[in-house]
Amino acid sequence: MACRMKTKIRLLNEASVEEAAGILRAGGLVAFPTETVYGLGANALDEGAVRGIFLAKGRPQDNPLIVHLPKSELPAGLVSALPDAAECLMEAFWPGPLTLVLPKGPKIPDAVSAGLPTVALRAPAHEGAQALLRAAGLPIAAPSANASGRPSPTLARHVFDDLSGKIPLILDGGACEIGIESTVLDLSGAEPVLLRPGSVTLEELGAALGKTPRLGRGVMRPLPAGERALSPGLLHRHYAPRAEVILVRGEGEALVQRLKDEYDAAENALILCADALLDRLQPRNCQGLGADERRMAKTLFAALRQADERSFSKVILQGVAEEGLGLALMNRALRAAGFRAVGP
Ligand code: AMP
Ligand code: MG
Repeated sequence: MACRMKTKIRLLNEASVEEAAGILRAGGLVAFPTETVYGLGANALDEGAVRGIFLAKGRPQDNPLIVHLPKSELPAGLVSALPDAAECLMEAFWPGPLTLVLPKGPKIPDAVSAGLPTVALRAPAHEGAQALLRAAGLPIAAPSANASGRPSPTLARHVFDDLSGKIPLILDGGACEIGIESTVLDLSGAEPVLLRPGSVTLEELGAALGKTPRLGRGVMRPLPAGERALSPGLLHRHYAPRAEVILVRGEGEALVQRLKDEYDAAENALILCADALLDRLQPRNCQGLGADERRMAKTLFAALRQADERSFSKVILQGVAEEGLGLALMNRALRAAGFRAVGP
């Protein structure tokens, strides 16, 4: 039997960033923190290195990767066109949690774009991620550093739990500040289309562009069978713990009652909700995700993983209004629940 690779976790500092950059330059994989979630990086210009990402994650081949750049520099050959809207949004939101989908340039291997004519680009704001990108001197393809289908990792330990034995190094930069993945906006067509909501909100994009982007089909509800997704990632099972997840929509007393009813009808269940509801749901097993949506986004994935560690069979997840950051939270929650939602 082949020996498994030993996976090291090293605190992110100058020396570990240098070591990580060396691994990336040599065609290897490194997990690193960003302000959104932990990413699993490889040299985006090296087809073989990029294939390693798909293998380590068990990621379907048709799901393209986001290419990460240091600060706002856009090296030649990555895109074949740069629309005005892209320049405007790069100026407004880079570095930061906004990914732009643009017509692909000749330097991008097909494995990165999964055969699509476009490429997704982002400049992360996280200082450690930027230091790594600068030290490697390469564009780095990096999806979330989880095993495909699992909740995205927001701690180095989550990466270790999923990818231990498959990658040589995890840089530990503590908990990710935002906790959900970047906003993905497609600028490759006639009009901007939001493919994945994130902490750069639809409203903020609308204000910067002078017109609110259209929400892609399949982003907030399942695509009709047979319809091709604009973003292949939309088709795949995502963000899901092993426990069954059900999402409960609603407001006020009706919401609290529905959460109680779902809990009382289930066995071995855990309610995940806003802190404000905790008192009203006692003495049931419940865990607060935070006082507001920002905090809830930061803790959602860790809480889903914890539910598995604590062997709950069902997670009853409180829904929020689909506006602002709530749109991104609900996008992740709906997918974690396999679109099983109750309430109005
Ligand atoms: P991940 O980094 O694992 O969170 O996933 C990256 C997301 O970006 C997935 O939902 C992909 O489908 C999406 N994505 C990456 N590249 C493209 C592209 N060229 N066109 C559309 N969506 C993309
Ligand atoms: Mg992912």
